[in-house]
Amino acid sequence: MKKVFSVLLAIVMVCSCMVMASAENDAEIKSYKNVIFMIGDGMGYFHWDLAKQERDIDLFVETAPLKGYSQTRSYDNEVTDSAAGATALACARRTMNGALGVNPHDLYNLFSHPVSLTEVAIENGMKTGIVTSDSTAGATPSGFSVHVNARGESAQISNQQVNSDIDLIWGAACKDVNVEKAESNGFTVVTTEEEMNALEAGSRSFGQFSGTTWRIDAPEGDNSPRLSEMTAKAIELLNCDEDGFFLMIEGAHIDKNSHSQKAAEAAEAMEEFDNAIEAAVRFAEEDGETLVLVTADHETGAIVYDIDHQFKFTSGSHSATNVPIVVFDGDSNFIEDGETIKNTDIPERVAEALDFGDAFPRQADGMVTAFFRNIFDKLFSFIKGEK
Ligand SMILES: [Zn+2]
Repeated sequence: MKKVFSVLLAIVMVCSCMVMASAENDAEIKSYKNVIFMIGDGMGYFHWDLAKQERDIDLFVETAPLKGYSQTRSYDNEVTDSAAGATALACARRTMNGALGVNPHDLYNLFSHPVSLTEVAIENGMKTGIVTSDSTAGATPSGFSVHVNARGESAQISNQQVNSDIDLIWGAACKDVNVEKAESNGFTVVTTEEEMNALEAGSRSFGQFSGTTWRIDAPEGDNSPRLSEMTAKAIELLNCDEDGFFLMIEGAHIDKNSHSQKAAEAAEAMEEFDNAIEAAVRFAEEDGETLVLVTADHETGAIVYDIDHQFKFTSGSHSATNVPIVVFDGDSNFIEDGETIKNTDIPERVAEALDFGDAFPRQADGMVTAFFRNIFDKLFSFIKGEK
């Protein structure tokens, strides 16, 4: 009797394991060769309505088959800034507002850093790119490229960027970028649309453009590309390697124009970001191996639908409202339609989509482990004779 019971129990256990395994398989995220990770800085769902109202347009982003919500808080505040927001999206780690790619409370950089998706992509042999309408030392591009305690340290940020192994870093010019150093590290420095278009696949480049790439049309005398043109060219340049590419694109001026509560300009920035999304998705449709996802670091302006049937700003700051996470492949299993996830879930899922395995093992480290890991890392690199 006891034996029969044991056999039955074993059968039940095997069956329940099979059920669990198949449930997990159902949710398994599809694998991709390339990921285009698009961030509308400050973009809430109501920014879409604001743009449609202001500009009398349809938005391409609304055609995405999967739309959900991302909870944006930082480690120390329910309202995140763009530095902590970018760190959460790049490193799967919530940190203090103002910090870029470092652990919370690590003001003196004593602890080991969380790694970013960009770094894991480089380790996996992929091409990597960072494109923004903001300064190259802005918070969002920096969260994906450096580890610096304070977002204002643009000299430190630019120095880490020009010494990085990233293939392409494009944005508005930053005075702290040392062109000579960038060139000696293999970057071609480009400052105009013409120079950008002359770049060839496989080359590495540092883009130092004007601050108006977010506009639909270039202002008179401005020879910089539009954000959508930067997106299309970056894809063309990075799509040259069998190991694929990871590209982050930021539309920064949805946030900037929402801080100043300029509805017309915020709507224009939203429309040009939408053009960039369309450029990325058109490539992905043709390519068939590229995941395009669109999200935001936080919402800016606390937009509401007002009693006079207008979408309006009610604040000049960031808000804690959930933001869009939008995926352009209905079969991706990246999110369920309507699902709410944490900002840090997004890079974890990107790592899964790119088969990075356990990409963020250090992110679970507590303070003590991170402290000692840093000491041992430094000791080992000293013994190995590294700088
Ligand atoms: Zn902001």
